[in-house]
Amino acid sequence: MLRAVAYSHQLLQERLAPGDMAIDATAGNGQDTLFLTRLTRPGGVVFAFDVQETAIDATRRLLEREGVSPDGFQLFHAGHETLREMIPARWHGLIGAVIFNLGYLPGSDKTVTTSAANTVAAMKASLTMLRPGGVLVMVVYTGHPGGTEEAEAVLEFAKDLTGDGFHAVEYRTLNARSSPPFVIAMEKQR
Ligand code: SAH
Repeated sequence: MLRAVAYSHQLLQERLAPGDMAIDATAGNGQDTLFLTRLTRPGGVVFAFDVQETAIDATRRLLEREGVSPDGFQLFHAGHETLREMIPARWHGLIGAVIFNLGYLPGSDKTVTTSAANTVAAMKASLTMLRPGGVLVMVVYTGHPGGTEEAEAVLEFAKDLTGDGFHAVEYRTLNARSSPPFVIAMEKQR
């Protein structure tokens, strides 16, 4: 069976096709941004966010090295809680998938982590951006300070989406020794 990160990729792969729009809310080293550009090109656009300039630079270098066309992505050195303001209005309601990888960037500044308040604000904003059938995928880590509270907030947010036209699911390893990441995904109903 798939691990959490592989499962998150499967969800993205199932939804996205060439020409689609997608969001990487936590660009980090750019691996998910690159993965999204491969699913959406040609013709699509990936919007990627990170609060660390080093992360945005690393993402840009990776995409350039992999030969991704500059029309295929837009990088924002900004918090994901501002994504609705940052992404041009013509794309609102047309996004096929949004992905978050919570926590800190491995090998980088471990004091810069996602936070419950910003994550929940960004989840709310993300749902308003989805097209019917679009997905919001959260890869949830609990190892950072505040990580347990953040995971709880993400779960509560997903559970509370009753009667809102969304289907929310959870995918996690039950018999792990440490605390591996798990996935919370929400689909906007057609
Ligand atoms: N835990 C994952 C990687 C998480 S990377 C793993 O192990 O692979 C999380 C990224 O989110 C970091 O690069 C961090 O800079 C970024 N981040 C933190 N707060 C943010 C915010 N409000 N908006 C956008 N990105 C943010």
